[in-house]
Amino acid sequence: MRGIAATPTYVVMQPTTLCNLDCAYCYLPFRKDDRRMPVAVSEAVAKSVRPWAVSGRFSVVWHGGEPLAAGRDHLTALFAPFDEGVEHHIQTNATLIDDQWCRFFQDRGVRVSVSVDGPRERNGDRVTRAQKPAYDRILRGVQALRRHGIPFSALCVVGRPGPGLAAQLYDFFLELGCDVLGINVEELEGVNRRTNRHPAREVTAFWSELVTAWRRDPRIHLREVEWSLRYAAAALDGTADQVLPRRLDPIPTIAHDGSVVLLSPELAGFHDPRYGDFTSGNILDTPLGEILDRAAETPWIAEFLDGVEECRSSCPYFGFCGGAHAANRYFEHGRFDATETDHCRNSKIRLLEGVLDHARDHEPTAV
Ligand code: SF4
Repeated sequence: MRGIAATPTYVVMQPTTLCNLDCAYCYLPFRKDDRRMPVAVSEAVAKSVRPWAVSGRFSVVWHGGEPLAAGRDHLTALFAPFDEGVEHHIQTNATLIDDQWCRFFQDRGVRVSVSVDGPRERNGDRVTRAQKPAYDRILRGVQALRRHGIPFSALCVVGRPGPGLAAQLYDFFLELGCDVLGINVEELEGVNRRTNRHPAREVTAFWSELVTAWRRDPRIHLREVEWSLRYAAAALDGTADQVLPRRLDPIPTIAHDGSVVLLSPELAGFHDPRYGDFTSGNILDTPLGEILDRAAETPWIAEFLDGVEECRSSCPYFGFCGGAHAANRYFEHGRFDATETDHCRNSKIRLLEGVLDHARDHEPTAV
């Protein structure tokens, strides 16, 4: 893997900066403000992605803020310019989902991913603006999805990974009925300055136990574990160097005002005296293809690519990780050419070690 691909496989859209919740670990700087994306921005994005969407699978991921907080009428207007072949995804806290939203999803074939951190006692960080627990509202939204037979993924933030937690979480998500589960170890990122440094042994044990729980009943696609197993299988076949894509997906994030941030959605809305506002252009005056053609001219991106090369030459996990995410380097080290972060230790290195520990502990005994 080298450099940035000229064509993305998806774009991330920010229909509003607003979120109706106030989670303790949230990284978003403007989540109290309703800065809405004008329809002219989604028209410009739809026009830019049309050639990519006709030549293959292409997704639009509606993120936020909380995307449903933009309101159904406004989201309807923002969806309208996209052609039928485009696959829409929504990442939502689920608290606003009702029967009408379910019909909205069904009419447009939207794939829904719900943020929920496990059973009630694990959702203490998920609170409303009045600092009241959001858990019951989240579950009401999930129940609406289930009532309408809408399949959904789940995204779970884990604040303190450690032994004894994984089985509880996995059983909860089996019961919840999601098809796909992603586990994010909380990140020190954006306006969230809480530490994400944890004892290595505890994080590795968490991932190892998660594999054990999943193997008992592998009904859910468990994102991180399946990635790791794919890599481990490729390593055994001698094809580990083919696991990563040939080039980095640029992951253009289109902020509410049309500005485009590449590679790390989490950088949108931030400013640094050295790097400016991290944007590579604005979709209202430049087609996305042109912005991508000039991606490496954005100063912080050139520095990040140097950091990826440094990872390639120094880190034994590079073939699995590919250099991880730009935003984690910036928010942990204040620059992009640093290599190891607590994020990559928690979610790449310890993940792979946990999966390998599991394999070692369950080796078939010689007869
Ligand atoms: S695990 Fe960390 S140090 Fe290694 S390649 Fe990934 S980001 Fe770089």
